[in-house]
Amino acid sequence: TKTVTDVICPFCGTLCDDLEVVVSDDGKELLEVYNACAIGAEKFLHSQAKDRLTRPRMRQEDGSWKEISYEEAIEYTAQMLADATKPLMYGWSSTNCEAQSVGSEIGEYVGAVMDNTATVCHGTSLIAVQDIGIPSCTLGEVKNRADRIVFWGCNPAHAHPRHMSRYSIFPRGFFTGKGHTGRKMVVVDPRVTDTARIADVHLQIEQGRDYELLDALRVAFKGEQLPDVVAGIAKEKIYEVAETLKSGRFTIIFFGMGVTQSLGKNHNIDAAIAVTRDLNEYTKAAIMPMRGHYNVTGSGQVWGWQFGFPFAVDLSRGFARYNPGETTSNDLLRRGEVDAIFVLGSDPGAHFPFSSVKKIYDLPSVAVEPHETPTTEVCKVHVPVAFVGVEVGGCAYRMDNVPIETRKVVEPPEGMMTDEEFLRHVLARVKEIKGV
Ligand code: SF4
Repeated sequence: TKTVTDVICPFCGTLCDDLEVVVSDDGKELLEVYNACAIGAEKFLHSQAKDRLTRPRMRQEDGSWKEISYEEAIEYTAQMLADATKPLMYGWSSTNCEAQSVGSEIGEYVGAVMDNTATVCHGTSLIAVQDIGIPSCTLGEVKNRADRIVFWGCNPAHAHPRHMSRYSIFPRGFFTGKGHTGRKMVVVDPRVTDTARIADVHLQIEQGRDYELLDALRVAFKGEQLPDVVAGIAKEKIYEVAETLKSGRFTIIFFGMGVTQSLGKNHNIDAAIAVTRDLNEYTKAAIMPMRGHYNVTGSGQVWGWQFGFPFAVDLSRGFARYNPGETTSNDLLRRGEVDAIFVLGSDPGAHFPFSSVKKIYDLPSVAVEPHETPTTEVCKVHVPVAFVGVEVGGCAYRMDNVPIETRKVVEPPEGMMTDEEFLRHVLARVKEIKGV
């Protein structure tokens, strides 16, 4: 056997880069994974599953599946996209930037709406950043400098299991040699999560009252009067937390879907960014979204370079339009405005509302996905592909917008295509059909 070191984990936005993977001498079998958390290790090990699908399949009239060749899958996908008036090309968060770039090119030729998982996650954060900018930093700065850590509406103990040990709470950095004993940890969450349990202060906010509490903190920074209770939190506690944040050398606010997708949405993030900006009057402060999929950040980057917008990009008129609420996937599906759907690197079948999933089921549809998921079960064609970051490398962006080159550690099953290869074939065929 041989051990591959410095392997990148292609699961969550923490993009841990210190994994060690033991593979057989011929590089065809993956045997052990070290340093990853349970969900990260499982992703690597799942590539070795005996019942893994290795060839595309098409749903038959009676609902059963029939194996088809990659060529047939490419033909179906190219025809479906070229024939559609307004196809939706959704996902793009669990793949590399190379595949995202080829996908965008296809989207331009077929006049698609390109959307990624930010649409149901941190899209609101992106809107807020467009509104008022963002004072942010890298996770390296957090590790080396931050002594006040806030987790607002997120639960890294479960969703980003090594975030606290590698970057935020426990590690000893250059100016943070005492590790967690030199840091103060504040969690804002209506639930008593496992993250909240280890915090120095848990503000058990009333559900949906984030905007009020953020504004109250801004008032407290200035020492102005607050009502006795805001968002279920006593004013004394709010003054205390405001003082804690002001008195540190470096405050970082991490935030998640508890605040991006609750009442107020992008306005909550406007307020959170304003809190960060205010804090910079007293100390150094930064704010960062806890991005979920390992390369959702990258798809925003790729589309940012190519179209100027990070998600919900409508190319159907021959130029890029962006209007969240109109050009976002669930709005389009619910209003019946798209006539085909292509999904790659995400699972809307598991995460979209039932009404949208039903629309996917009714439309011509293709899912490009290594696993069998709720999405593959409602699509007409399922194209299994090699695992990015395990069986093929490529660029991914960590949650702090740092690009990291993922590594290939094991060979994919014989004859399997990667996302990028499949998309390149589809692109070539779309160009033929369109005569360009
Ligand atoms: Fe992978 Fe995220 Fe776990 Fe790190 S924390 S090993 S990136 S799943």
